[in-house]
Amino acid sequence: MAEGTQHGELAGTRPSVVVVDVLGSGSGQGNPGALEPAVVDPAVPLIYADDLAAVRGDGVFETLMLRDGQVHKLERHSQRFLNSAAMLNLPEPDIELWHRATTLAAEAFSADIGADEAALRWVYSRGRESTGRPSGWITVAPISPEVEAARAEGVDVMTAERGFRIDLSQRSPWALVGAKTLSYAANMAALRAAKVQGFSDVIFISDEGQVLEGPTSSVIAVKGNTLLTPPTDAGILPGTTQAALFQIAQQQGWATEQKSLTLKDLLDSDGVWLVSSVRAYARVKSIDGHKMEPPACAGQIEAMAWQAVTS
Ligand code: PLP
Repeated sequence: MAEGTQHGELAGTRPSVVVVDVLGSGSGQGNPGALEPAVVDPAVPLIYADDLAAVRGDGVFETLMLRDGQVHKLERHSQRFLNSAAMLNLPEPDIELWHRATTLAAEAFSADIGADEAALRWVYSRGRESTGRPSGWITVAPISPEVEAARAEGVDVMTAERGFRIDLSQRSPWALVGAKTLSYAANMAALRAAKVQGFSDVIFISDEGQVLEGPTSSVIAVKGNTLLTPPTDAGILPGTTQAALFQIAQQQGWATEQKSLTLKDLLDSDGVWLVSSVRAYARVKSIDGHKMEPPACAGQIEAMAWQAVTS
């Protein structure tokens, strides 16, 4: 039997992913209890059946862009990772350890898979229910053709109710609004529902009718020479791409504003984009079937968004 196939891998299909065990918590692979991260076999299971990431989604993650061997926006992602972990009362991550693991993962990806662009994901879990020991790992996988298509062609968006008011985060910190938790099943379900109805992405709307974010992206609208985005205290994840884009836009003479937006504001704007670390940008071609033509500034906005994720 070929190496790895005893673990259910189909013969001849080696997973196209690099895995690094960061906290030495793997199931006998790498170096359990080790202080240093280790590259492990992606064809062999890493976590235990009672890992709280698997059974409760109880943990946090970050997805970083890896391009031409370079990991981008490390500081911004590190900051949000620390913040998310603190919101879940997880033990503070040793960020230098995560950075060393990231370098190791990027090098292993270049050596083993070598695609130009990849998504590098940090996962930090509360760990085993039976031992209380946290687990943490990194995966690196090439980006999908769907990501490239969304960049090149844009997306048709469906709006969807988020199901809560924007002040939920103030009233109920346990709702973990603004933390990048592993509980993304509802976000993924919204995307699937959109696809069934012929759309390619989603913009969530709050109970009060305020624009929030996409399931995996921040919403940007352009009106005249101003870039607009909903405020981060509106029950959304603070986006690293949005923040970097606004900084670059300001340097290039654009105005930027965090402002409550309605669906009508989006439809009345010159253009709308969904921005995020790996996809970078996807222009919104239509919202609930209302077409949005590309504005004259589309090329400029997309060039700035690209710079935001790659500089
Ligand atoms: N909002 C949500 C819910 C997300 O999941 C993401 C990224 O995955 C974003 C916004 C955009 O964040 P970033 O630009 O840091 O990738």
